[in-house]
Amino acid sequence: MKNNNNLLEVPNINSKDAKLKKLIYDVNDSLFSQDNYSKEHLEYLCVCSGGTTSSCAKNGFSTLDLRKNHSKINLDRESNLVTIGGGVIMGDLVNYLQKHNRSFPIGLSKLPGAGYILTGGVSPLSRAYGLAIDNIESIKGFLGNGTFISLKKNQINLEEQLIWEAIKGAAPFFSIITEIELKTIQSNPIKVVEGFVNLKELSEIIKLSEEFPENMSLQWIYAQKIYLYIFVELKSNLEDKRTEEYLMLLDKFPSLEKHFHENFNEINFFPKGLNLYELNSNNHSEVISLLGEDLKNDIPIFIECLNEIMDNKPNNSCYVASQQLGCKTKKLNHGSSFFVHRKSTWKPWIYASWKKDDLQEKEFALEWMYKSWSKLKRFYPNIHLAQLHNHLNFHEEEITLAFGNRMNELKTLKNIFDPQGILPPL
Ligand SMILES: Cc1cc2nc3c(=O)[nH]c(=O)nc-3n(C[C@H](O)[C@H](O)[C@H](O)COP(=O)(O)OP(=O)(O)OC[C@H]3O[C@@H](n4cnc5c(N)ncnc54)[C@H](O)[C@@H]3O)c2cc1C
Repeated sequence: MKNNNNLLEVPNINSKDAKLKKLIYDVNDSLFSQDNYSKEHLEYLCVCSGGTTSSCAKNGFSTLDLRKNHSKINLDRESNLVTIGGGVIMGDLVNYLQKHNRSFPIGLSKLPGAGYILTGGVSPLSRAYGLAIDNIESIKGFLGNGTFISLKKNQINLEEQLIWEAIKGAAPFFSIITEIELKTIQSNPIKVVEGFVNLKELSEIIKLSEEFPENMSLQWIYAQKIYLYIFVELKSNLEDKRTEEYLMLLDKFPSLEKHFHENFNEINFFPKGLNLYELNSNNHSEVISLLGEDLKNDIPIFIECLNEIMDNKPNNSCYVASQQLGCKTKKLNHGSSFFVHRKSTWKPWIYASWKKDDLQEKEFALEWMYKSWSKLKRFYPNIHLAQLHNHLNFHEEEITLAFGNRMNELKTLKNIFDPQGILPPL
């Protein structure tokens, strides 16, 4: 990992270009000593795990980079629980687990770090195994006031209960998590049905997908063209009857191809052929993630709305995409959490990007993102706070829509455990 002139080597280009005040690697008593740990010194502290968001490094702010000293992964072969450091990226986790024929419901990219888990974690496998937070067994770390915490599921006392629930979905606002213990799953083969489709086909496939069994999920991305993936987990290498029926229904779409993968690790959801600008070093970007329920009879109006949004795109690097959750993510048997919109079955996201020094294009792109969000609100009224946007002017609206009726509890936790407001503001 290079660090030249206070720049951070991370996948997110905004953060990569940020001129840091200070880079910190250690979370220990000296970080929290009164002289170092004050708003005056840190104003405020950015935490970096996978480094895929625009909030892990900012001009003039300090970054705590967990990747160097909190990158251990260890699987307990008896319990099949894996312990990871707070700076582990999801690709390293699933590659490690695969050696033991285990896996974890990571998202559509291997690049995100612990931020993926702590903000909820929506995976193509979530319909069968829940969100990433539903698979947390224990955590260790520090509250924003420097207090060490170690919490284990089923051993949480009354005082710790609210902290435990808030760690699952809202951890970045009041804690720094250095270790997470997770349930793992058996690694199974995957079938992916994928290809370019037109709007009419997308509409038909969304309709089909809203009836999918839990081992199937749809994800689509509308950049220059529409590409979609139907993800099918094959338990014991077999297609059950219902899966088989849906796969047969998909045969009528001529552009879709079926690919078999030995395991989840083999799949690349954003192939170069899509010409996405995500990692283009000349571009800066922001992403906003929404949540909503099945579209049902609204599919035709949604498609019209999507068409309009794409017609108004300010440049070719902006896109809209969506992933499917539901089934197990609707269940609360993993315990209460700060991912409050459990009824959600779709998580669309809007990606706005611009040439990094072009302030006018930035304004247009962010305006397009905001207007598109407004248009999509009737279908997807809530927010998945996977990215923190306290540097943007819709931050307050976003957090209110993300945490809903738990917002006041989160504010209380923030006041108690991050009284100086050193971690990201609410
Ligand atoms: C290509 C791509 C694909 C994605 N696909 C999905 C997907 O399928 N499903 C999904 O749910 N999300 C997805 N995401 C979103 C991603 O999971 C979130 O943006 C996540 O927050 C990124 O985490 P990170 O550790 O990489 O980011 P970072 O930029 O390192 O961290 C983001 C913020 O999280 C907080 N944070 C991170 N680690 C810790 C820690 N250990 N303790 C306390 N706070 C911490 C910090 O405030 C930090 O600023 C995707 C993102 C990308 C770039």
